[in-house]
Amino acid sequence: MLTKDTAICIRTTDFSETSQILTLFTRAAGKISAIAKGSKRPKSAFDGPLEVFSYGEIVFSDSSREKLATLTEFQQKPGLADLTNNLFALNCCLFGAELVNSLTHDYDPHPELFDAFLQFLHDINEIRATSDERRNVLSLLILFQLTLLREIGLMPILNACANCKTSHGSRVTPAPSGVEGSDEFYFSSLANGLICKDCEASFPDKIELTKNAANCLANAKLLAEAEENTLNEIEKILIHHFTEILHKLPKMAKHILKN
Ligand SMILES: [Zn+2]
Repeated sequence: MLTKDTAICIRTTDFSETSQILTLFTRAAGKISAIAKGSKRPKSAFDGPLEVFSYGEIVFSDSSREKLATLTEFQQKPGLADLTNNLFALNCCLFGAELVNSLTHDYDPHPELFDAFLQFLHDINEIRATSDERRNVLSLLILFQLTLLREIGLMPILNACANCKTSHGSRVTPAPSGVEGSDEFYFSSLANGLICKDCEASFPDKIELTKNAANCLANAKLLAEAEENTLNEIEKILIHHFTEILHKLPKMAKHILKN
């Protein structure tokens, strides 16, 4: 049976002199692995070379989901992977692709996550070289990572203590712009979220957060204006959290954080 879908290539492996095996994140079918026969020939059926972040309309046959699908068409759309002059932005996109690959299952559709990933790649391509560039890229990566966690059902609790459920805001005043009322906040992967100072002793894996980082996690709208130091701190927490979820450090993580 032939299936049409929209896909972003998130991984390529050489299979032979002329063919590749692709991991494709598709909008309707979720993640699939497919062989692209003859894709490395100068004239192939796939509109040119297939690379990570190749994006467009595909046709594939998947007679058995146990085996590799066969890619028969890939009508590529331009403009997603134009990051050759910005290594940090490229690394953030590759990190996003690695996380999508590691945290979704074959044939488990996540159309909203697909849309968010496509938007993330588009937005990163739009960022122009300015003094603010690294900060802007990092805030997009963090927003995408939070969307990813939400879409796969692993969103941490970030607006209240994940253990005692006390809202951080309720301690003193309502907190329209994030967490207020206490100066001590922690993140615990074990608890899957923020932890208040009354509960922190029960969670040996906790990491103390600055107030700015806790505010941004409680209210993601603040990420766009956050300082680079705060974003680095949040990204470090997220990498720690993904490492706990995956039981290993993601490969691209070392390219994201400054020491
Ligand atoms: Zn608590």
